[in-house]
Amino acid sequence: MALVTGGARGIGLEIARRLLFDGYRVAFVATRTEHVERALDILGRPKDRLYAEKIDVTQDNDVGGFVDRIRARWGEIAILVNNAGISPKRSDQDVSWLSQTSPEEWARVIDVNLTAPFVLIRLLAPTMIAEGYGRIINIGSLAGRAMPMIAGPHYAASKAGLVGLTRAAARDLAPHGITVNCIAPGRILSDLTGSPEAAVNRSALGRIPIGRFGTAEEVAHVAAFLASPIASFITGATIDITGGEFGA
Ligand code: NDP
Repeated sequence: MALVTGGARGIGLEIARRLLFDGYRVAFVATRTEHVERALDILGRPKDRLYAEKIDVTQDNDVGGFVDRIRARWGEIAILVNNAGISPKRSDQDVSWLSQTSPEEWARVIDVNLTAPFVLIRLLAPTMIAEGYGRIINIGSLAGRAMPMIAGPHYAASKAGLVGLTRAAARDLAPHGITVNCIAPGRILSDLTGSPEAAVNRSALGRIPIGRFGTAEEVAHVAAFLASPIASFITGATIDITGGEFGA
């Protein structure tokens, strides 16, 4: 069984779709009921293979309860995809991000993007260890790998932190048949990044050697590979999916 956070939209929805296609049972969470319901409709509501709830990944008790419920339903979780993420926007790109980022906004971004993946890995690792098998995939970002051209300091720091968390967890869990990897997408069109016509995207396009934005499906293909048993000698890695962009 696979657990995908933020599976109601964008990249997470495509990962859920792809893992279902590959034959896994999939459970996902997202924050808004209407998004959860819409995603369940899109995925065809296969009752015996798909389950979702409105859960905020930063609410540890709610996450723990959800994990208990899906384990009771389907047994152990073999695949964890830490995909849920937020990226606050600034309408004026010329204004300094540092001066505009409050400590409260900083804390929220770190909580969702970095602390929640840590908590979930910690929660699921013991049973993966007992089973002798697991696949953990963290969705990072180019913004955590290179000079962040659009995102704020909290987002860049959270995604850079995921690279470190991936390596540390990979080292701990490698002897137990569990791999931990990170995917670092560049600009992928989704609700988080907006429409291709937006000014910020027009300037982003010029930095991508392949000359277009990525799709959520392209990220999902890589996630599905890393989630599969054949990706058995890849751990602690961060795979860039950026159309050739590596930033300044
Ligand atoms: P979207 O904004 O399209 O979707 C994000 C999903 O995460 C939504 O389903 C949302 O729930 C859910 N979510 C957000 N906060 C929480 C929370 N606290 N608890 C539970 N679920 C939550 O994002 P993308 O698909 O674009 O991005 C997915 C991941 O990929 C993120 O980690 C992002 O940082 C990363 N990424 C995206 C890039 C891009 O270009 N799109 C580039 C690089 C990285 P709801 O639907 O209810 O709002």
